[in-house]
Amino acid sequence: MKSKVIILDTTLRDGEQALQASLSAKEKLRIALSLEKCGIDIIEAGFPISSPGDFKSVQAISRKIKNSKICSLARCLEKDIDIAGQAISASNNSRIHIFLATSTLHITSKLRKNFDEIIEMAIFSVKKALRYTNDVQFSCEDASRTTIDNLCRIVEKLIKSGVKTINIPDTVGYTIPNEICSIINQLFERVPNIHKAVISVHCHDDLGMAVGNSISAIQSGARQIEGTINGIGERAGNTALEEIIMAIKVREDILKVSTNIVHKEIYRTSKIVSQICNMPIPSNKAIVGSNAFAHSSGIHQDGVLKNRQNYEIMDPSSIGLKDVKLNLTSRSGRAAVKYYMDEMGYKKNDYNIDDLYAAFLKLADKKGQVFDYDLEALAFMNQQQEESDYFLLKFFSVQSISNGLSTASVKLLCGNKTYTESATTRNGPVDAIYQAINRITHFPIVLQKFQLVAKGRGKDALGQVDILVEYNNRKFHGIGLATDIIESSAQAMINILNIIWKLQQINKKLRK
Ligand SMILES: [Zn+2]
Repeated sequence: MKSKVIILDTTLRDGEQALQASLSAKEKLRIALSLEKCGIDIIEAGFPISSPGDFKSVQAISRKIKNSKICSLARCLEKDIDIAGQAISASNNSRIHIFLATSTLHITSKLRKNFDEIIEMAIFSVKKALRYTNDVQFSCEDASRTTIDNLCRIVEKLIKSGVKTINIPDTVGYTIPNEICSIINQLFERVPNIHKAVISVHCHDDLGMAVGNSISAIQSGARQIEGTINGIGERAGNTALEEIIMAIKVREDILKVSTNIVHKEIYRTSKIVSQICNMPIPSNKAIVGSNAFAHSSGIHQDGVLKNRQNYEIMDPSSIGLKDVKLNLTSRSGRAAVKYYMDEMGYKKNDYNIDDLYAAFLKLADKKGQVFDYDLEALAFMNQQQEESDYFLLKFFSVQSISNGLSTASVKLLCGNKTYTESATTRNGPVDAIYQAINRITHFPIVLQKFQLVAKGRGKDALGQVDILVEYNNRKFHGIGLATDIIESSAQAMINILNIIWKLQQINKKLRK
């Protein structure tokens, strides 16, 4: 019988902590639901001590997710472990993941302790965590730079104290494949109780070797792999789970292991994570990039036409990728919209059909034809907009003159009142419309990043504007989507203003 490799996804913890703007609890829950559907064994939902928001979202995920184990991260500190334990209390399938540095470099220069004290702290924390769940994972942070003698010593003690999963992280992405092989081989040879625990690896991609190292670790006996969808994460990112999962499937002949993953959900999960995290997938990205299955040279195209296996090692449909070409018009019904969303791999819980259909009709009137990528963009845009938005763009006009001056006028609905303002600037039409909006809303916002991408093809493609702003030392991310790029720019700003306005209302309520 083939043995199983457990997949631990840390998109919501290691991946999320590297995003420019943090995700809302609702967005994290949507990612968790899609990971569950994809058959992920363990979802590391967050680091609850890091913020009340993270605590709440780990709690919400623990309540909703039934088929994946929920894991909560903690340092070797009593309060961390208590908060982690409380956050997952609603789940009856949970894990606490404790981490502590074990390399001499980290323990002397960061923790200022000796190795005996490290072992003592670790064992004390494991005992504390075992009060909340019988499934405790321990990560020896910077394990790949820890001396093998120290690593063997602490691992034996940890297993004896009840740890079921020992994680060997390559925290700084420094290891190369045969090095990680040697570490794991030595653990198996030298730690007498090693068979009582699962060995896991958590690799970072600083040298582009996260996936290679993880595969090597499997060959040495590791049976849990940690990583993120699309490889998002600190610095160069984590092990890309879709790559590991497909490598295990495609090279089953050599690796002789399998996973519990529902492979046909991979493409959809990758898309959802990319959309929600606002992290575009490079076109040449393995497995899920838009060119991953495209053959451009004539010789290859010819070969593929004769027999796909000539140049294709995987069938695109095995990851849920379908070649959907559709052309909807305003005469298309709700069922047609739903049908094409199904075809693209989205399930009805992934989006709101009423909102999507309303937005679709509006766009179909404007553009005439609507394509699959338009539908996708609309479906995810609607998730960003709440029904009860306070600010609403009613009208705008912009004029740019060749002498460098731009003038914008806007009419905004604020609650139930309408205001009109205009502004003139030398910095172009987007700055003019932002200044006019600011004259109405008066939020001291600093624009940090502005990005425009065409969603779709041709001259009637939708323009998506992503902006990052700073307000009161916090970063906010807004998206606007329209055929007119000035309108997308304005909508992206209004998207953020609505988020800030809502936060202010919540704070006012809390202060009462
Ligand atoms: Zn990490």
